[in-house]
Amino acid sequence: MGRAFVYVILGGGVAAGYAALEFARRGGYSRGELCIISEETVAPYERPALSKGYLLPEGAARLPGFHTCVGANDELLTTKWYKEQGIELVLGTKVISADVRRKTLFTGTGETISYKTLIIATGARALKLQEFGIQGSDALNICYLRNIDDADKLVNVMKSCPGGNAVVIGGGYIGMECAAALVTNKIKVTMVFPEKHCMGRLFTPKIAEYYENYYASKGVTFVKGTVLTSFEKDTTGKVTAVILKDGRHLRADMVVVGIGIRANTSLFEGQLVISMENGGIKVNGQLQTSDSSVYAVGDVAAFPIKLFDGDVRRLEHVDSARRTARHAVASILEPSKTRDIDYLPFFYSRVFTLSWQFYGDNVGQAVHFGDFTSSSPRFGAYWVNKGHIAGAFLEGGSRDEYEAISVAVWRKAKVTNMAELEKQGLAFAIQE
Ligand code: FAD
Ligand code: NDP
Repeated sequence: MGRAFVYVILGGGVAAGYAALEFARRGGYSRGELCIISEETVAPYERPALSKGYLLPEGAARLPGFHTCVGANDELLTTKWYKEQGIELVLGTKVISADVRRKTLFTGTGETISYKTLIIATGARALKLQEFGIQGSDALNICYLRNIDDADKLVNVMKSCPGGNAVVIGGGYIGMECAAALVTNKIKVTMVFPEKHCMGRLFTPKIAEYYENYYASKGVTFVKGTVLTSFEKDTTGKVTAVILKDGRHLRADMVVVGIGIRANTSLFEGQLVISMENGGIKVNGQLQTSDSSVYAVGDVAAFPIKLFDGDVRRLEHVDSARRTARHAVASILEPSKTRDIDYLPFFYSRVFTLSWQFYGDNVGQAVHFGDFTSSSPRFGAYWVNKGHIAGAFLEGGSRDEYEAISVAVWRKAKVTNMAELEKQGLAFAIQE
């Protein structure tokens, strides 16, 4: 069985949804010329909701409420919308191999799908504990979080142990957001991670200390600088305790694991250039891969960041997925009018009543500012590299304040006096 399309979007996540809307807005295809192939059984949705609204004990977010592109305050693209737009949704279908030279994809259902132009939007997969040599991580009450099925499992496991104990493995984004959600669901949480403090790749020790104290005030216990080595299980296969390298046993009614991701590039290894540094599919400023008919966007793409002097990065954040997707479609449909992408990296998180944003790169010397003591805080940090602002973080800011720090990073605002910058704090960005 074989089908032919002009445009194929491989993957049905955040980037796919935003690419579809961009195709529709630009009217760059005829009915039946564009398809999205996704292993997931639902139309593209806003993945960030899975660790936030989806886990709320009351009034939880559910589909169709958070299909793309509501996260950017744009249209809600339901399956009906795709039908109306003449975009074919090939759902519940995994592509198992690809032949770039013949412009053909092969699905697990035995179908052959060919394209003239391909957009790879396969995102990433959660790293599993097995990959670190830890056996038994497929137990009934061990949860990962990447897609709706994972989120449903997490919700069910939470409901099965009200008032129980959860061990959260990993102190990154998933660990922090899931720990907050578990506490909100009245589950007692212990977080275990190898670093000295949470969010080790982004937060400074001082920023991390604020969040760790806040979490501790909500009853979360931190076990830092160690990793788990094995599990204790009951006769039904459920984990009952987590055993750590330092010998400690932590009682557990459930476990949540967030130990990072790997880009889904395997279909294209040996066919497209893959970045050795970050494991993404290498693209140029038009999001075009080493094969001119193939584009890559979102978590799987390694693209040049002009602001960082063209350094090639693979970003694992939703804003980047949305923007690279739109940009690729513009490049495909109007190549002569589309300049190279000029992207300002943007990360954010919301936990409990806290909310932060970060722009740029956390390189150079960090200069903190604001009030780190309040329970309704407003504090942040600038990263100053070679006399210019390279990155900025702000907790508890207003829309205008976030805008101000983003502009300071975008313009690489000049810093002549570090002590003055510290004294001015947020005012430095606002006055810029
Ligand atoms: P994905 O959204 O992961 O989509 C990839 C798609 O490809 C999936 O549908 C997958 O099934 C499909 N696929 C993969 N391989 C195949 C194949 N062989 N055949 C068919 N289909 C395939 N970022 C933020 O900036 N802020 C947040 O608050 C935030 N929260 C998050 C919360 C969670 C729980 C998670 C998991 C991520 C979060 N992120 C957040 C990150 C953000 O969601 C990702 O950066 C974004 O989803 C990347 O979009 P993507 O389209 O590249 O990949
Ligand atoms: P992260 O990369 O954010 O964090 C992984 C954490 O696990 C790090 O602290 C890492 O430490 C630690 N770790 C690595 N190996 C082990 C191990 N064997 N045992 C214990 N801890 C370990 O990944 P997440 O899994 O938290 O998130 C997955 C993806 O989801 C990311 O792409 C993230 O961007 C995205 N996401 C984003 C959100 C947001 O932007 N608000 C929210 C939720 C998810 P080390 O640094 O030392 O390797």
